Amino acid sequence: MELSYLTDGLGVYGAGAVQALEGLRALRKTTLRVNTLKAGMEETEEELSRAGIPFERAGGFTFALKLAHGSEPELRKLSCYQTGRIYLQSLSSMLPPLFLGAQAGEDILDMAAAPGGKTSELCQLTGGGAFITACEINPIRAQRLRANLELLGCRRVTVMQQDARKLDDFLRFDRILLDAPCSGSGTFDLNDESSCAAFSRKLVLNSAKLQRELVKKAVRLLKPGGTLLYSTCSLLEEENAQSAREAEKLGLVPEPIDMTPFADVKLLKGSMQGTVTVCPDENYEGFFMARFKKKG
Ligand code: SAM
Repeated sequence: MELSYLTDGLGVYGAGAVQALEGLRALRKTTLRVNTLKAGMEETEEELSRAGIPFERAGGFTFALKLAHGSEPELRKLSCYQTGRIYLQSLSSMLPPLFLGAQAGEDILDMAAAPGGKTSELCQLTGGGAFITACEINPIRAQRLRANLELLGCRRVTVMQQDARKLDDFLRFDRILLDAPCSGSGTFDLNDESSCAAFSRKLVLNSAKLQRELVKKAVRLLKPGGTLLYSTCSLLEEENAQSAREAEKLGLVPEPIDMTPFADVKLLKGSMQGTVTVCPDENYEGFFMARFKKKG
């Protein structure tokens, strides 16, 4: 792994770089989203208690629980997991659908959707009332996306297995989530070389190129007045601010994200104002979000 490329890249955060590196070594808690399309918080909490699995509510969310690091195997045995009443998802990954602001009745595009954590959350947040198109290029991952959506009881979702860069230019959406393919540098576990074995400068530069092409497409497909939420699970500026700026260059207006409800999230100060860079720690993976509006 080209670790020095990552550590050099974190330099943009000044003193925050040390905190970020510490966070990439932290033992992260297992977290889950209660799928309120199928279950309530209380009944889920009762099921966990009966199984003797300790948990606590995650601050800022109405549907997320935190459990001890390494709880996944126990959770996978539970009926609530097997029947799609809970979905194992990082807290960072639960943020973009919340900040997209999707409403029932709207046309939503999830441009890079598999395995479907955010697509199904969008469905949950709109009570199944939005018309969601979930695009995924990889056929095996698209299959998994379909299976997850079925298990989680998501309605009004159309899965398109194709390159989102080639989506028909006549399509139009009220809101677009571009949870872009990236190096995953915010999710690395520096105690475990295998989690970052594929990382390289070349991977980052290739991701950045693909991200800019996807942003370009998103800008074209957005209705006037529509919202684009760009996110990655990377901490590198090449994949974050530099790719997100493509939207600004193409005329979208940045819309700052207010993280006040998530007071326990440590933030890193990136180069683009109004965007959010989550510092990894024992609760959160490293993550980036930028939001834009298309002039009406
Ligand atoms: N949003 C997903 C979730 O929350 O479960 C995670 C998405 S993952 C970060 C990025 C996904 O984009 C991968 O599944 C990858 O196969 C897919 N992808 C990569 N290039 C793509 C393209 N050109 N068009 C559509 N999907 C693409």
